Amino acid sequence: MERLDRVLIVGAGFAGYRAARLLTRAARREAAVTLLNPTDYFLYLPLLPQVAAGILEPRRVTVSLSGTLPRARLVLGEADGVDLDGRTVSYTDPEGGRGTLAYDRLVLAVGSVNKLLPVPGVAEYAHGFRGMPEALYLRDHVTRQIELAAAAPDADACRARCTFVVVGGGYTGTEVAAQGVLLTDALVRKRPLRHGVRPRWILLDIAPRLLPELDEHLSRTAHRVLRERGVEVRTETSVKEATADGVLLDDGRFVGTRTLVWCVGVRPDPLVAALGRPLERGRLLVDPYLTVPGHPEVFACGDAAAVPDLERPGEYTPMTAQHAWRQGRTAGINVAASLGRGERRAYRHKDLGFTVDLGGAQAAAYPLGVPLSGPLAGAVTRGYHLAALPGNRVRVAADWLLDAVLPRQAVQLGLVRSWSVPLDTASPELARTPDTPAKAPPPDPSSESPDGGST
Ligand SMILES: Cc1cc2nc3c(=O)[nH]c(=O)nc-3n(C[C@H](O)[C@H](O)[C@H](O)COP(=O)(O)OP(=O)(O)OC[C@H]3O[C@@H](n4cnc5c(N)ncnc54)[C@H](O)[C@@H]3O)c2cc1C
Repeated sequence: MERLDRVLIVGAGFAGYRAARLLTRAARREAAVTLLNPTDYFLYLPLLPQVAAGILEPRRVTVSLSGTLPRARLVLGEADGVDLDGRTVSYTDPEGGRGTLAYDRLVLAVGSVNKLLPVPGVAEYAHGFRGMPEALYLRDHVTRQIELAAAAPDADACRARCTFVVVGGGYTGTEVAAQGVLLTDALVRKRPLRHGVRPRWILLDIAPRLLPELDEHLSRTAHRVLRERGVEVRTETSVKEATADGVLLDDGRFVGTRTLVWCVGVRPDPLVAALGRPLERGRLLVDPYLTVPGHPEVFACGDAAAVPDLERPGEYTPMTAQHAWRQGRTAGINVAASLGRGERRAYRHKDLGFTVDLGGAQAAAYPLGVPLSGPLAGAVTRGYHLAALPGNRVRVAADWLLDAVLPRQAVQLGLVRSWSVPLDTASPELARTPDTPAKAPPPDPSSESPDGGST
């Protein structure tokens, strides 16, 4: 019997998941698909702020890889080396074991990691927001701060525990702050704080407006909704230093807080830089067919790839879920074409617009160029997420319904400890453990801020 070509997909996020889904259906006679990913699920990141806010149960935003891609072989692990000449990928499994996978075609879809800036104290005292552990940690941490504030001996301690600083006004930071204030309002409704203190949320960005990389309508709507909820939006402001007791802003003011959420954007996963191939601001340069120049057997897509934007010559497609999802499909089609099934095609896209979920019934949306706000935008945004989720739709809709009619469940689960969610997840040597403090990371000149957050 003829051997099937080995297609190895590294990363099962938006791009990798979609490529695997296409290939296991359209090229099942040509390709044996292996998926290498650290977790056994695809994570629908845009709904993560709702997990942190206690609206969605964590598993709702995950989709089982083996359950939904039964024809793909799942290998749990993290790639740490690619031998382009030998056509192998080495990896470490979740228990520290080492392995190597050989391929005939390789799809690199490893996404991005938190972006760090060399601001003193940030690596030690800030938390990122990039995956499930961070969302669960933040939910517990915020709940705990409110509970500790209620028992705080004096007004200053109470005020510091009830102050939450989010850095980065891109869609991640904006949604975290918008959802966070609703969560803390719900928490203090149940157990009002002494000393007349109210939770205070501050959202900072160095840019002159929120959502600086998105349409101005989205920015204005988000700003208005946040202001109405009492969130202090400080544009053209940055963090100079973070300490255990608070943050020093670049305007000289010190804000007492125990919570610093770092959402200044992401940078491409460093695995692609290690390939030694041309990069564009840290992303692996590919041609419009998503192949790596000089290596027609290697494809890259999603946040980790710099894909020429054929709609805007001279530019590259931004790091969004919409692009990653569609590029995954194109990568799948082109891998299949390289194996003799179908025709390859260049990646082209029509912008479908953007939605920013602001919690409650509020959202800012710009679908197909139509500016929407208020409950209509909220309905469009939730409808979009339901349509885009590759699984769990009924469960997500059920959670939304329950949240609309029942009070939010506010208890800590204590499953994720602070030291297990270091800000720099891409550099294990920088990670904190209970015994060793984190080291400050080096500056990262190639980093960018694709979700619009900046500092
Ligand atoms: C909180 C949050 C909210 C967001 N909201 C929106 C939104 O509303 N709209 C929008 O368009 N975009 C949003 N984004 C951005 C969007 O999620 C990304 O652009 C998209 O996920 C990129 O898809 P990807 O497939 O390239 O990477 P990812 O979806 O991040 O997937 C990468 C996969 O590769 C795996 N991986 C990483 N390194 C390795 C390795 N070495 N070996 C093996 N596997 C590896 C990861 O575990 C992951 O499964 C959001 C991002 C975040 C963090």
